Amino acid sequence: MKIIADMHTHTISSGHAYSTINELAASAAQKGLQALAVTDHGPALPGGPHIYHFGAMRFIPREISGVRIFAGCEANILDSDGKIDLPENYLSRLDFVMAGFHEFCGFDDKGTGRNTEAMINAMHNPGIHAISHPGNPAFPVDYEAIAREASLTGTALEINNASFTFSRCGSRPNCEKLARQIGKFHTPVIVGSDAHIAQNVGEFAVALEVIAGAGIEEAQVVNSDLERLIGFLKPSG
Ligand SMILES: [Zn+2]
Ligand SMILES: [Zn+2]
Repeated sequence: MKIIADMHTHTISSGHAYSTINELAASAAQKGLQALAVTDHGPALPGGPHIYHFGAMRFIPREISGVRIFAGCEANILDSDGKIDLPENYLSRLDFVMAGFHEFCGFDDKGTGRNTEAMINAMHNPGIHAISHPGNPAFPVDYEAIAREASLTGTALEINNASFTFSRCGSRPNCEKLARQIGKFHTPVIVGSDAHIAQNVGEFAVALEVIAGAGIEEAQVVNSDLERLIGFLKPSG
């Protein structure tokens, strides 16, 4: 299985990342990727971009260095209702919206039950395509419930490569458990590097190992084919 688009990357606009969009795209081209989603953190993250950042993404060319660019966001889930830090009219202007839990954004770990409830409610927001790093041990969730609901709502669950290398220590056993549930419910999957610097764009090795180990089929992995990816990103209306 080949991943043709990195769907989780951060630019300097995130406040704690180190490359520009041009540098990310050049790295993606060098690694043979066809597409790249720029998913800077939502405005609730300390040091994150102002909401205007997401309104101004129309200035970004559709292609940079021969790589198709998807304007995106990694929004923050703010409460148990699944509310996120970008309003509807901003979401509809973006190609790809992920939502996830991050500390210091207004929703800290509330235990498995309430975390699961918040994540499931976010999946019911039609503007959200995917949930970022759902295997994060800092925000435990019920993996069976998450995989089932994501399958029902057509929300992709991310297998985040950085969770196995740089970030969210202890993610691997959780992600392996989640991956087995994803296989069982035929839930859509997005693979992302979560690169915070250009050199890490397109790094998917451990994520692919976890996916293979759980018997997840290639057809479930949304960004293993450009046509499948574009079909998945189409607004549901
Ligand atoms: Zn994140
Ligand atoms: Zn991220």
